[in-house]
Amino acid sequence: MSRLFPEVADARREAFWRQQERRRQTLGQPCCTQSNMSWSLIDMEGDFCVVIHGESDCLNCFFHHNGRRAVDYYSTRLSETQLVSGHTLEPLRHLLQLLATERRPAAVIVLGTCPVEVISDPFEPVVHEVSAATGVPMVALRTHGLTLMRLVECQDWLYATLAGLGEPPEQRHGVNLIGLPPGAASEEARQVLEAAGVTVNGLYPNQTRFDAWQRIHHATHSFVVDSSTVPRLTEALRSGGQQVHDVPVPIGLYQTGRYYGLVGDRLGCTEAVQAATAAVARAHDDAWLALKARLTGRVVALCIRMLKTHRTDLLAYEGLGPLELLRGLGMEVVVLVQGPPEARETFRARLEALGHADLRMEVFRGPWELGVVATDVGADAVVCSDVARKVVEEAGLPMISSSAWRPFYAGIPHNLELLAGLADTWA
Ligand code: SF4
Repeated sequence: MSRLFPEVADARREAFWRQQERRRQTLGQPCCTQSNMSWSLIDMEGDFCVVIHGESDCLNCFFHHNGRRAVDYYSTRLSETQLVSGHTLEPLRHLLQLLATERRPAAVIVLGTCPVEVISDPFEPVVHEVSAATGVPMVALRTHGLTLMRLVECQDWLYATLAGLGEPPEQRHGVNLIGLPPGAASEEARQVLEAAGVTVNGLYPNQTRFDAWQRIHHATHSFVVDSSTVPRLTEALRSGGQQVHDVPVPIGLYQTGRYYGLVGDRLGCTEAVQAATAAVARAHDDAWLALKARLTGRVVALCIRMLKTHRTDLLAYEGLGPLELLRGLGMEVVVLVQGPPEARETFRARLEALGHADLRMEVFRGPWELGVVATDVGADAVVCSDVARKVVEEAGLPMISSSAWRPFYAGIPHNLELLAGLADTWA
């Protein structure tokens, strides 16, 4: 079969598929790489098209008719005859030429699928050729279900690709804030920094405009929540001349203070940032202390590796974003890791590498075990993915969804309210 892709030749063997399934379970990948990429792009505003090169059914593994970009998703809709006879490139060339002449978008992203991968379809040269002939930027990505990767890897690939479509700037100005949660609370960072005299070039990746990605190289610095989750993007920014700095997930008073402190320090404007945050930083002190008195000594199970999400902020630092918020309010945190029990030492080593050798940790195999495991560790409450809500509630434990936290000082009242809800159930 394929000389170019040995894994495809292996695909005829049962052992290959067994190994693929084991890898999929370890990676926690819920869907194919093409589908993951398509999901991530479908709600992004902007002047670009996505072409799924393969069978029309590859469009059916995600809601291709939902989302702002749905009208700009196209497929080569290859038939079995075309695939078997290798007549796959002309339909792609024709589609790309039509898009370039009739639709004329700012960019076209072509995603490969399993069927074209299995026949080693050399589609990238066609994409480059049409792009060169028409002047419309086009990029080909060999996404397909046979390529298994961690969710953050897939997101990183996409972000680096989007960043690669931008033009190099003539002059650099401002900073990028990368890896923040979506929503209005993240806008606080823009306001604080601009009050401190720092221009914010963009908030990524949750800024849902394609043209914002085209400006990402215009900044002088990027502050990234856990750059280890986005190594390709980080490398693209560094090689483009930017300084890239790691910052924590800004959830809770301590992490938010560290976030602003690091940004001020790296930009040489610590005092200006402190002045811009002084009032909001102290605004929640009374409520914080009152809630701390109610939560101190309680045990909370913080579950990680459960989420199947495109949000890198929820996957950053292995999902430990709310750890310092919970500890800061006097709670004892037990980390529950979803995964195979035999990987226990790997998980332990990862926590140690993140500076958390002191954390209590248990491993559970899946959501169905969570109620029992959380009870066994003496948890009074659980922070976990919504998929386990029923199991946790049946165990009589209150829970907070892993994705419910809001960032920065603007998010503190909401977070305190969530935690007060736990204390209310114990009253
Ligand atoms: S055939 Fe492959 S690329 Fe298409 S939907 Fe299935 S796994 Fe994804």
